[in-house]
Amino acid sequence: MSDEVAAGRLRVEPLRVLVAIGLLVALVLTIEGLRTPPEVVIEMPKAMTMAPVGDCDPELVKQLARRVGMALLCDVKAADVAIPLPPNPGRPERDQYRAADIIDFIHTTLAGGGSHTLAVTEEDLYSDDMNFVLGLAEVRGRGAVISLARLRPEYYDQPPDRELLLERATKTSIHEIGHMMGLRHCPNEQCVMHFALSVAAVDAVPPEFCPRCARRLGLR
Ligand SMILES: [Zn+2]
Ligand SMILES: [Zn+2]
Repeated sequence: MSDEVAAGRLRVEPLRVLVAIGLLVALVLTIEGLRTPPEVVIEMPKAMTMAPVGDCDPELVKQLARRVGMALLCDVKAADVAIPLPPNPGRPERDQYRAADIIDFIHTTLAGGGSHTLAVTEEDLYSDDMNFVLGLAEVRGRGAVISLARLRPEYYDQPPDRELLLERATKTSIHEIGHMMGLRHCPNEQCVMHFALSVAAVDAVPPEFCPRCARRLGLR
């Protein structure tokens, strides 16, 4: 009898230990979850605006808007005329504009529009933590910007190629729009949200979201 009780205890105690470990793991995961907020993604809106800023060809931006609109199943309207940029580029010695300043600038200039807006510029851009950026977006905000400067083959002493430029600009636009909707960088190399700092990295990704990112945006 006492043997049976002892055996019973032996069977129960490892279970208790497991439950305690389980609770501890759950607690640690919860604390970890509180420390890094979960990725909150908004569904792709039905319409958005593309705004050429500075010395930028509105015809090229219209073509770009059509491609991006088709890829995102979204009505992307491009403005007919480019919005002149303020004369202060932020980093005049390198002839670069601060990307966040251009986003702020389009918010002030297009105030009241309210829709998600992607600015397109020929100016080279930098951010507070990077010497140059191909684009920048407000995460879950309403503004983003891309620069065509380093997407142009001419920047690398190669002959101009409008088709290649449009392909690269389409991918960069979709990437920044993904950030605007709340997506972070995706580990999948076959996803447009994969981190791309160089133009070679832009060329390596497809112009579309992986199934996981697409689902989160309500695209699939
Ligand atoms: Zn990014
Ligand atoms: Zn992805």
